Amino acid sequence: MGLNPADDRFEAGLRTKLPAACFRPLDPHYLTEPRGLLHGQGGLLLTPATTEEVSIILRACNEARVGVVPYGGGTGLVGGQVCPDGPAPVILSLERMNRLRDLDTTDNIIVVEAGMILADVQAAAREHDRLFPLSLAAEGSCRIGGNLATNAGGVNVLRYGNARELCLGVEAVLPDGRVLHGLKRLRKDNTGYDLRNLLVGSEGTLGVITAAALRLFPRPAENIAAFLQIDSPAAALELLGMAQAAFGNMVSAFELIDRQGLEFLRETIPHLRQPFAQPGKWMVLVEIGTPRDMPVQTALEGLLAEAMEHGLVSDGLISQSEAQRQEFWRLRETIPEANRLIGAVSSHDISVPVSRIPDLVERGAGVVAAVDPALRINCFGHVGDGNLHYNVYPPKGKSVAAWRHLRGAVKQAVYGLAHDLGGSISAEHGIGRLKREDLARFADPARLQAMRAIKDALDPNGIMNPGAVL
Ligand code: ZN
Repeated sequence: MGLNPADDRFEAGLRTKLPAACFRPLDPHYLTEPRGLLHGQGGLLLTPATTEEVSIILRACNEARVGVVPYGGGTGLVGGQVCPDGPAPVILSLERMNRLRDLDTTDNIIVVEAGMILADVQAAAREHDRLFPLSLAAEGSCRIGGNLATNAGGVNVLRYGNARELCLGVEAVLPDGRVLHGLKRLRKDNTGYDLRNLLVGSEGTLGVITAAALRLFPRPAENIAAFLQIDSPAAALELLGMAQAAFGNMVSAFELIDRQGLEFLRETIPHLRQPFAQPGKWMVLVEIGTPRDMPVQTALEGLLAEAMEHGLVSDGLISQSEAQRQEFWRLRETIPEANRLIGAVSSHDISVPVSRIPDLVERGAGVVAAVDPALRINCFGHVGDGNLHYNVYPPKGKSVAAWRHLRGAVKQAVYGLAHDLGGSISAEHGIGRLKREDLARFADPARLQAMRAIKDALDPNGIMNPGAVL
């Protein structure tokens, strides 16, 4: 049974049940995604302010068989937020559901509504001398409901885990309008199937997360970062081992940076100051966050000296101030923007077991060169948790349009390699619409069948984010 469009008649029916503030003109930005690969369509934009209003909307959509595309900050990179074909859906934006419901420093918990901007969740925690550690480049505009629905990762996963691991409970509306009251704040709760973890990472295909209870952590008294030139990804892993031996889980981020990334920055954003006049082929950005009264500067200098003695690091800088630490991070966080300006033939968010990172980098260069030896690679990211952004670009001075036809071949080569190495074709961005066929190709068949059965059980009419994930 097909879906119906969110047409004028459907809207007229909803207007009798919802306040006028839920209806807004459909601005084109709801129909685009950051890389411009997909253009969505929408029949009706709805902006509910309460869980009850979300429930009314889903019940109506389910009865009329109208598709629903849940919309957070619109920053997702796999097209989960735009629906390019089929009957025009409802676009359900959580932007007005942005309240802080509770914050408790004994439970170390923050309860927020789904539409709260990630940076605002971080700021609310900071105001109470706590840390909400989820951190990613889009944090100023992405919304926590979207972060949870896509199980977002970012730079602090190494120490604190991804969105899933930071979430203790969710309130959600199921496709038929029933409200799931799951805002528990328990670390231990073994009471049957874990619906929270089904909804986290479901990318809006099983329901709409409306609020969440999230874990807070003590705020490190001091954060210090080191920007180090290394020989190879294998040296990065050895250095990671040394850093973890010295600092335990105080190592909060461990990022690999490819010289190509700094060259893209120099080319596209030349005013951004770079730490090395002559960058090596590879660099790592390490961050250590420590409690009070730890001689972290001395310890980090000692580690650096030892790493240089072992030939793992050829040159390095340790941040001498908060401003310098932020400068290091600005470089790392601006690489995606430089990448966008250069224009990728194909981008991949992949993960492999940490031990296989050197294989991935070495064999990756081979499989990409086999497609075309002139292609350029910028491979960077969260090496500490095995997640690399493995992006492939046209030769210098060439337009991406003339090289886009290689996209399919590059993608299959990179995903095939990640799969061979026991990895994943989507480490932190999700499946959305852009990776749906790749999931169908690489996922274990029994798992795919179980996923379909779950989808059919919870959303028998198939209204939730039609065309995403499955
Ligand atoms: Zn990332």
